[in-house]
Amino acid sequence: PPILAIETSCDDTAAAVWAGGALRSSVVAGQRVHEGFGGVVPEHASRAHERLVVPTVQAALREGGVAMGDLGAVAVTVGPGLAGSLLVGLSAAKGVALGAGLPLVGVNHLEGHVYSVFVEPPRPPLPFLCLTVSGGHTLLTLVEEGFRHTELGRTRDDAAGEAFDKVAKLLGLPYPGGPHVDRLAARGDADFLDLPSPRLAGKHGERPLFDLSFSGLKTAVRYWIADLGGDRAAVLERHRADVCASFQRTVVDALVDAVRDAVRRTGVRAVAVVGGVSANSGLRAAVERAGRADGFATFVPDRAHSVDNAAMIAVTAAFKLAAGHADGLDLGAHPALAL
Ligand code: ATP
Ligand code: FE
Repeated sequence: PPILAIETSCDDTAAAVWAGGALRSSVVAGQRVHEGFGGVVPEHASRAHERLVVPTVQAALREGGVAMGDLGAVAVTVGPGLAGSLLVGLSAAKGVALGAGLPLVGVNHLEGHVYSVFVEPPRPPLPFLCLTVSGGHTLLTLVEEGFRHTELGRTRDDAAGEAFDKVAKLLGLPYPGGPHVDRLAARGDADFLDLPSPRLAGKHGERPLFDLSFSGLKTAVRYWIADLGGDRAAVLERHRADVCASFQRTVVDALVDAVRDAVRRTGVRAVAVVGGVSANSGLRAAVERAGRADGFATFVPDRAHSVDNAAMIAVTAAFKLAAGHADGLDLGAHPALAL
């Protein structure tokens, strides 16, 4: 029976319907209320979710051709995310579950990103290596049967998406900056700036297992701008695309390098790249190129399923239900949930 999924962890109100092993509908109502604030304002986000959640659920049901009475379960994101935003989705999901007498399934947003590669074919075999690159996380994990995730590496400071957004802000681009950097990088010179690699050098010149640090990269761009002096605005204007290209290549090289290392060390030849930053053209192309060169299969979700959406929550819930897992109406929100 069809599953309705609701996702409200950050600033997108999303709902999706999954049935018969396929996606029936996926609706994302972007909140325009954060423009001009340079980031998400939590209070504005939860209010916008309150306004949008019912119409978004209705649109998902309508587009999916499913009536409330046909549903078999309701899935909802329980964390990580903004507490107030999570609670709006959770309350809506409980309302539907209680009203229609349906089982409730709580889903970890990060698990949702990981399983977003199962929304559409081609789907990876288990186990697979998963690079999760989003606005708040940068993780490399081994994903095995039974929702087992073994961490192989992570960022020690900023997430990759955060680095994109912060550098974009330094360059005077709107929030979220990732897509803008992506667009400008396509026509910039990646050799313009020599930026420090986010891969950390360890003892004896040996790298610690896949650890990354993005904060130095952002600082390097900040210093470059600070050193421009008097005609800063003009130079910045002329070289904005070049800085974007240099920055993007440095990030992509480090991420792809870590992935290649992980394939070599684990022998696992299936790699998924998920999360908002997996929408990046440079990263998508580089991962596919590395896969062809090193002989591993790559799985990158459609861009619509890279950034936040409810389809990934629905497919994760389908896996959980199939494994016999369901939650009660006492399900709570967990703003700091880990993978
Ligand atoms: P998390 O999933 O870690 O809780 P989140 O849900 O806010 O955080 P996502 O929606 O997965 O994050 O991803 C949003 C991030 O992806 C933003 O930082 C955004 O700039 C980045 N992003 C989106 N598209 C692109 C792109 N084409 N290139 C680079 N970054 C991008
Ligand atoms: Fe996300």
